[in-house]
Parts: sequence; structure tokens; C-alpha cells
Amino acid sequence: MQPRDLSANAPYVPGRGTEEVARELGMAPEELVKLSSNENPFGPSPAAVEAIRDTAANVGVYPKASHTDLTDALAEKWNVASEQVWVSPGADGALDYLSRAMLDPDDEVLVPTPGFAYYGMSARYHHGEVAEYPLAAEDDFAQTAEGILDHYEGERIVYVTTPHNPTGSVCPLPEIEALANGVDDHTLVVVDEAYGEFTEEPSAVTLLDDSDNVAVTRTFSKAYGLAGLRIGYAVVPEAWADAYARVNTPFAASEVACRAALAALDDDEHVETTVETARWAREHMYDELDAPTWESGGNFVLAEVGDVFERGSKGSETESRAAAAVADASQREGVIVRDCSSFGLPTCVRISCGTEAQTRAAVETLNAVLRELEAQP
Ligand SMILES: *Cc1c(COP(=O)(O)O)cnc(C)c1O
Repeated sequence: MQPRDLSANAPYVPGRGTEEVARELGMAPEELVKLSSNENPFGPSPAAVEAIRDTAANVGVYPKASHTDLTDALAEKWNVASEQVWVSPGADGALDYLSRAMLDPDDEVLVPTPGFAYYGMSARYHHGEVAEYPLAAEDDFAQTAEGILDHYEGERIVYVTTPHNPTGSVCPLPEIEALANGVDDHTLVVVDEAYGEFTEEPSAVTLLDDSDNVAVTRTFSKAYGLAGLRIGYAVVPEAWADAYARVNTPFAASEVACRAALAALDDDEHVETTVETARWAREHMYDELDAPTWESGGNFVLAEVGDVFERGSKGSETESRAAAAVADASQREGVIVRDCSSFGLPTCVRISCGTEAQTRAAVETLNAVLRELEAQP
């Protein structure tokens, strides 16, 4: 007995966890600064923590009222009908629901490269195929309707990530609108706004009033600090919103997650502090990191470290290991950043925005690591 041919299903490569690295290095987890997974450095809102505690005694029952309450609260926030809000276990869960709703076997999806691995993974789980459109470092990873449509060949779903992970680039709303108008009627444009809170750019949810081929995904994992609970959602057009009942995994968003998300939604101050700190941290990294960076709309900054070996004497054949070398060396100094090799950017590291103290420490450590690697014979 064997599973079906899974050779095209590449496993997800997550950022390294604190426990894992601490064990490997023989350090205490508290000694590490983890800036590899774009998590909220302040953790969840205290109100969410309280809701989690209060819910503990109620987890004997399936989540029903809490799911309805969260759906209604999100519908009010986005000024859409409740049916249009597809609550899910993480935004990744919403991506799966959209795959289930849209993809017939062998249908194609068009995804950005570099980009978020789960779009392609979800398509393949649902017997779909994956095509890519490039975002180029030379253009600062600019996202335009024309650039995407150049590579569009009638795919069933086109993914746009804005702000984009791992580059931080933002796709302006008029470009998304032009893209939605430029694709065929059978194509859904999915706008992944996992980092939407961190940018000034307005959400694409406003496009749903006039388009039935745009859906937006959002998550509580990043700005709201609830990554460990797995709660997110899609906002979809009214025309086919009722498909949710036919594709969602019953009760996949847990009672605890729904209650925590409801409490988190009410704590504006926590989100504001988080966003303000991330904006400060981005500026600090642009200004102080001794490596070229790209402007980011998210809670992370992409840095080019490929020339550490060019500036040193190791020669450019090792350049392709630059990100791994920098991430490894920095980890040994207690700062975990994301080696972007798995995103197809082997000369880049992505550094999440920490607290002010964490961000300052990370920049100092990375600068020391860069100096050391350059100086190596
Ligand atoms: C983090 C992230 C998500 C969603 O993560 P969940 O934890 O599943 O909500 C979606 N898209 C991108 C680009 C992300 O970085």
C-alpha cells in the first residue's frame, strides 16, 4: 500500500522554532530572539489570553455560537454580509476552502515566485497544477497587473500577496482592480492580506462590491498574535458565498480560537502598538543594517546578504550559500532569522520586526555576523 504520487508535493519549510534551536545550541529558549516567522513580538492581546482561559471549561462542546459571533463581528468590520465571511483554521485553511470551491482536477493556479509556498501546496492537495509569475529583485519585486497578466494563461486562481511575503512589496489597489478586470470570468483573484494591518494601502475587500471574481484572505496569526491558535478567514463575493457550507471542514475553527479572535478584535490598542512598533522596526532596519534592504509593507524586512562573500575572498560560487551562512552564524549568536533559500532567494534573509529591544539586538548581531563573514579568508 502506498499513498498517491506525492512527488510534486514539496513539504512546507517553516521558520525555525525557539525550542528546536535552543535544544540544538544548548541554550535556554529565553536567550534567543526569534525573528524568523513574522509572529507578533508582544504575543496575543491580554483580552484574548483571558478569553482563552475563560473558554477552557467549555471545550467539551462543538464551536457553534462562537463561530457565528465571530463571523458576524468580521462581517460588521468589513461591511459585508455574514455569508461572505468564511472563517477557517488559519488563513491557510481559507486557502484550502477556496481550492475546494474552485479547482477541478488538473485546473491550474498562478502564484508569485518568490512567494508563499502554501498556495501551490493547497492546489496540489486538491489535484491542481501550479504555474508561476516572477517578481524581480531588479524591480524591487514590484507587483503590477501588467506584470502578472504577462504570465496569465487562463488559470482558475491567480494569487496576489500584499504586502508580499517574503519581499514586503505592496500591490496597489488600482493594480488589483486592473488584474481582476483583465482576467477571464472563470478566474478568481485571491488577494492574500495576511500582513494587511501593517500597510497604509487600503484592503481589496472594497472591490467585492463590484467584482464577483475577487476574494481576500486575512489572518489572526500576525498582527493579532494568535498564530498558535490557527484562526483566519476569507471574505468572498456574495454571488457564490453559499459554497462555504459545501466545502468547509465542520468545526475546524475551534471554540477557543473563535473566542480568542473575538476578544482580539475588540483590542484596538494591542494592534496599534503592534503596528507602530513594526513600522519603527522597519525603519530601524533600513537605516542601521549593513546590508541592502527592500522597503516593506509587512512586519518583516528582506535583506540582501549575497555580497558578503563577494566582498570577502570566498568567491561567488559560494554566494548561493550566503543566506544559509548568515542565518546559521546569527543563530549561533542567539538571533534566529529566516534563510530565504526555500523561497528561491538564496542570497536573502528575512528579519521579522521584533520589539524595540529585540530589533536593536538583531541588527547589532547581524552586522557583527556580516563583518565576520566578510573578513573570513
Ligand atoms: C502567515 C501567512 C499566511 C497565513 O498564515 P495562517 O497562520 O495560516 O493564518 C498566509 N499568507 C502569507 C503570505 C503568510 O505569510
